[in-house]
Amino acid sequence: MDIEIQPVTQPKPRIEDESKLVFGRQFTDRMFVMEYDAGRGWHSARIQPYAPFTLDPAALVFHYAQEIFEGLKAFRRQDGSIALFRPKDNIRRFNQSASRLCMPPVDEEFFFEAIRKLIRLEADWVPHSEGTSLYIRPTMIATEAVLGVKPSEKYLCYIILCPVGAYYKGGFKPVRIWISDQFVRSAPGGTGEVKCGGNYAASLLAAKEAATKGFDQVLWLDAVERRYVEEVGSMNICFLYDGKIVTSPLHGTILNGVTRRSILQLGAEMGYTVEERAMSVDELLDGAESGRLAEAFGTGTAAVVSPVGQLTYRDRTVTIGDGQMGPLTMKLYKALTGIQYGHEPDTHNWIEML
Ligand SMILES: *Cc1c(COP(=O)(O)O)cnc(C)c1O
Repeated sequence: MDIEIQPVTQPKPRIEDESKLVFGRQFTDRMFVMEYDAGRGWHSARIQPYAPFTLDPAALVFHYAQEIFEGLKAFRRQDGSIALFRPKDNIRRFNQSASRLCMPPVDEEFFFEAIRKLIRLEADWVPHSEGTSLYIRPTMIATEAVLGVKPSEKYLCYIILCPVGAYYKGGFKPVRIWISDQFVRSAPGGTGEVKCGGNYAASLLAAKEAATKGFDQVLWLDAVERRYVEEVGSMNICFLYDGKIVTSPLHGTILNGVTRRSILQLGAEMGYTVEERAMSVDELLDGAESGRLAEAFGTGTAAVVSPVGQLTYRDRTVTIGDGQMGPLTMKLYKALTGIQYGHEPDTHNWIEML
């Protein structure tokens, strides 16, 4: 399938001061779009000016939430070149999400080329300062206009881009976490490992309650026993416990993060034992008090790593280590961002140059 390139007639105003870039608020001039019809497959692939869609109010996405997305980044290097971090992992996961929600897969090679073509056209939107990046958001929505719970026969797949500022502008600020014993994010057999908007809609109330109580994020426990740690906010979570890196196993209720996978590999190469095992909330809180739990951090594309300073469960609050970002968290952050920005060699073939 060819990609039609449409001209941009009205370029958007730019934010020249890269320190003023706010995540997810400004988008580039162009977007990639393609359409799907049952019987015809994907068609009408194009890179067009960024613009609103016109959709029928009955479009299935509005009623039954048949929607998936991805999130990955492109990084500007000192020599001006642009690097993508493990984009094929994101595209593969996009198709896995699609399959779970009865949506059509994209051709992975074609989609990778679509991302590259789009970013090549938008290359001057990739910011230059250290720590900045271009965030890439592939999305698929069900567009058939019919009220009826069934897989749509029509879809829209698109990719939008936003330049983002450095996540840790003001230094690393460890987050305060509220462990929810009331709400769960996902249950066995559900959509916890699918990157879909529906999971996020269901998480908002817990996040709002946590914010009201003065916390930054929610830590989710498993739905069955309400005992085992799953994820934190929209990140996977890792612990340094008894000198080992411990994280929740991939058993269908947590997202299979690209950052999680990369951090575990880097940790193992640094000589740490990596354990993918269930960690109970008691083990976690007792560990923080006894010192067996030395560090905790979330992992995800947006922040890379996000150090956890404090945990609260019911009426018990514990501080992890000295409440600051731990040395392993820092070392992993430097190792991963070093590969992304090209300060360190890419020995794992994680980088795809534009
Ligand atoms: C996207 C996401 C993550 C992190 O995945 P990365 O591939 O590392 O960005 C973790 N948890 C949830 C719920 C997510 O949606």
